[in-house]
Amino acid sequence: MSVYLNDEHRALRAAVRKFVDEEIIPIAAELDRENKFPLEAYRQMGELGFLAPSVSPEYGGAGADLLSTALVKEEVARGAAGLGMSINVCSLNFCHTLEMYGTEEQKRRYIAEVASGRKLASWMLTEPNAGSDALALQTVARPDGNKYIVKGSKTFITNAPLAEYFICIARLPGTKGARGGLQLLLERGMPGLEVGEKFDKLGMRCSPTSEVFMEDVEVPKANLIGAEGQGFPEMFKTLDAERSMGASTSIGVMQACLEASVKYANQRVQFEKPLAEFQLVQEMIANMATGLEVAREYCYKVVTLCMRGRSIIKEAAIAKLFASQMAVRSALDAVQIHGGYGYIKEYHVERFLRDAKLGEIGGGTSQIQTRLIAKEVLRGR
Ligand SMILES: Cc1cc2nc3c(=O)[nH]c(=O)nc-3n(C[C@H](O)[C@H](O)[C@H](O)COP(=O)(O)OP(=O)(O)OC[C@H]3O[C@@H](n4cnc5c(N)ncnc54)[C@H](O)[C@@H]3O)c2cc1C
Repeated sequence: MSVYLNDEHRALRAAVRKFVDEEIIPIAAELDRENKFPLEAYRQMGELGFLAPSVSPEYGGAGADLLSTALVKEEVARGAAGLGMSINVCSLNFCHTLEMYGTEEQKRRYIAEVASGRKLASWMLTEPNAGSDALALQTVARPDGNKYIVKGSKTFITNAPLAEYFICIARLPGTKGARGGLQLLLERGMPGLEVGEKFDKLGMRCSPTSEVFMEDVEVPKANLIGAEGQGFPEMFKTLDAERSMGASTSIGVMQACLEASVKYANQRVQFEKPLAEFQLVQEMIANMATGLEVAREYCYKVVTLCMRGRSIIKEAAIAKLFASQMAVRSALDAVQIHGGYGYIKEYHVERFLRDAKLGEIGGGTSQIQTRLIAKEVLRGR
């Protein structure tokens, strides 16, 4: 039992788990096979207050803490990791950014629509030539009277095929590096804004992903989030919350791997004994449980530190690096424990493996996390 959770956290976890068991797990394989987002279940989650627990009630959230958001993400990822990822973009990248830096009018107009599940949102940083090197982004927002003219393209954008709202990270003309950034709110239907075809991905297939193109999109200055030119520092500040629970999806996948492996190892008989009696199988299960417990408790610690306003650069990177590596390892072992059955779709663990891999790529790759950790440690932090 975690030392970081209180009774409310535990009650929320139980409620989300029940919903996921009843509404998500039974359709997870179909969503994966058909590359389909579970819109109906998503809207139900909105009605139940699961989508943006930490958003203030004034704007349609539940007014809970960030740890509650991490718990929801983890429990949803246990059923369908892609859904957890899509929710994360809506609740943290979109709602949390607006709550921190949006104007009162922006908050009232947009947050409740997303927190309730009525609308989906995207958050657009990555570009074809700016992935790990995010500050190399080239999307330009040129001021022109009371609007910006936005030109550029974004790629790997979660939710874009279904999103109504898009936070776009751009820069002022002639600026470089961390200077001149802006966060702008774009809406579907703005002339010049085009969403590409849904990508056909290895994993996380129920979360729709695509490119987004902006060809001289006229964005009212009223849609600027935060201060003109301060977009990058502000973005990094809002991303702290997102980063603090970057490990949650991997933790949810690990939990799914462990549950499936324990069940199968107890049922499957070879050499007249259940697999669970073979020490080499027990070792894989023990490794999974160890990775899961350590990753989970450390992730809760990082989220708790973030809630207390502490710097979590190194800690969040450690949590994400460790959890994503352990999730891939757990998923590989889960396939191994299932033998030939693990290699076919009916048994789900091959999906866990495909989903787990994204943890080592999205939101900053394992190499980038490693670099961050080394930099912080070498600076004596
Ligand atoms: C399914 C999915 C959903 C995503 N959702 C979003 C989203 O909603 N919004 C968004 O903005 N982005 C999103 N991303 C983008 C994601 O964050 C990037 O893919 C990721 O940051 C890596 O960038 P890249 O793909 O350009 O890889 P690259 O940066 O080109 O990296 C390629 C390889 O080189 C390595 N590498 C790069 N630089 C270094 C270095 N300095 N030292 C050592 N190794 C290095 C990387 O670790 C990696 O192994 C998503 C990606 C995916 C796949």
